[in-house]
Amino acid sequence: QSSSIIKHLMGMGVTVTINHTIDADTAEYLVKEFGHNPVKEEKAEEILEKIKEIKTQNLKSRAPIVTVMGHVDHGKTTLLDFIRKTKVVDGEAGGITQHIGAYQVPVGDSVITFIDTPGHAAFSSMRARGANTTDVVILVVAANDGVMPQTEEAINHAKAAGVSIVVAINKMDLQGADLERIKGDLAAKDLTPEDWGGNIQMVPVSALKGDGVDKLLEAVVLESELLELKAHYEGQAQGVVIESELDKFRGAVATMLVQNGTLKVGDMVVSGSAIGKVKSIISSDGSKLKSAEPSSAVEILGLSSVPDAGETFQVVKNDKEAREIAEFRESKLKDRKVLKQRDESLGNIFESMGQSDKKVLNVILKSDVAGTSEAIVAALADIGNDDASVKVVSSGVGGISESDANLALATESIILGFNVRLDNAAKKIVEGEELILSYHSIIYELIDEVKARLSGLLDPIIKEEIIGTAEVLEVFNSPKFGQVAGCMVVEGSILKSKPVRVLRDNVVIHQGELDSLRRFKDDVGEVKSGTECGVGIKNYKDIQPGDKVEVFDRKEETRSI
Ligand code: GDP
Ligand code: MG
Repeated sequence: QSSSIIKHLMGMGVTVTINHTIDADTAEYLVKEFGHNPVKEEKAEEILEKIKEIKTQNLKSRAPIVTVMGHVDHGKTTLLDFIRKTKVVDGEAGGITQHIGAYQVPVGDSVITFIDTPGHAAFSSMRARGANTTDVVILVVAANDGVMPQTEEAINHAKAAGVSIVVAINKMDLQGADLERIKGDLAAKDLTPEDWGGNIQMVPVSALKGDGVDKLLEAVVLESELLELKAHYEGQAQGVVIESELDKFRGAVATMLVQNGTLKVGDMVVSGSAIGKVKSIISSDGSKLKSAEPSSAVEILGLSSVPDAGETFQVVKNDKEAREIAEFRESKLKDRKVLKQRDESLGNIFESMGQSDKKVLNVILKSDVAGTSEAIVAALADIGNDDASVKVVSSGVGGISESDANLALATESIILGFNVRLDNAAKKIVEGEELILSYHSIIYELIDEVKARLSGLLDPIIKEEIIGTAEVLEVFNSPKFGQVAGCMVVEGSILKSKPVRVLRDNVVIHQGELDSLRRFKDDVGEVKSGTECGVGIKNYKDIQPGDKVEVFDRKEETRSI
């Protein structure tokens, strides 16, 4: 009877009405007071803990998960297409209808699961969220082209993730293919081929003709056997979301990689803050399944909302548990944001290495030209001492990309841009995850910043501040003003009085000052964001539509880190 409960609570000094909610401890106490045995519900943390525990029992081997990476145009898609067309066992409908970005390929007695979203974005964004999905990376390198920037990027990502690499030296059918040169290139990047005494399998292939692909698949199986991959097959499934979308007709659709347990129709699933009962499980050939075992990737219908790619999922007992976990996650996410802010103000961006207390500052460096990049990497190697040092996780030429930002997130690195800027995709991650990013145009200033971060000293640092950025829409020649760029100010303000830079593909190509700044026919001192203007740059005639003009300032500041 509610009135007697309210009365009892009053007696305890707790004033409530019938609509009030009381906390768990009070409820437990009350239930006892009334002579019953309270049954306490499990908390999210306990549920998740239990799920983890089961993992170590009854392990059986599982198929390796493979991702294909490499430089653009080196043949990733061609290779995946060839494998899918010739190696995947056809579904009941005959013919191949690819539904999802993953499929399984039989190789002898083994099976390989391919994640068919080539490129680093998929891999690194999942990694950045802490999901290690891949066991082996097939690194595709075109034999007529060699190691290129994205090849290096892929190597960096795979190494940072501790993933095994098997190299496919592709386009061997071409005239200019030079196997030994490519092996030399790769050895210089610390990937030493087996026949040179190293431990990296390198298989010459032609993805176009299919030559060598069987050998490549066998190499992958061999590599994965060394890894002794295992999973438990019984119990509640858990894994990672590989892709997800909101389908107009089917609702939330998620491609999930099962990592442990067996996923069944009717299971209650929670992924991030999305929950739902599995309505159907669809395999990569489009057929409906009743269940899915470890290392298989399947499409799932029935979730309440669309989980993010890279998010983990787990099966729980019931709706209540699912809600409990989803809410717990949301509150934890908030806590993490607060913690992260606090951490950063204390300068806790160091990573402890091994047993020793040595601090390591992880750095990702992007520069405008290779020579500068090498000079900076060499200078960074020189700083540091027994207590603290710098580790260049990756360095390269060109604008700061989504892949760089994801790698920074995954490895807790700071990002340093030397005469380069970040693109929009990278910006989203840097801002959303509050990564540390700084721009420089003078090498010793960059080194000074790293030293200051390393020592935690409160040195005054000269910092560049970007005041405004304008995008060049068109370029015309005026008899009176010379070359004028018609611009749209996209961020901040453009000031006549401050120094400017011209950027192409997020790389600085000119630094100087403005000759003229005009709104319609008037000379002005400042143009604000969202406004068009005409810009003339002193002694520079090379500007093109699509370039950016950036106004900056240099300030001395005392930094507290
Ligand atoms: P991706 O950007 O890495 O996915 O590269 P693609 O698979 O799209 O291939 C880029 C180009 O290289 C295409 O024109 C392919 O036909 C070609 N290509 C890929 N593999 C081979 C190969 O083994 N031999 C030759 N000759 N061309 C290839
Ligand atoms: Mg492609």
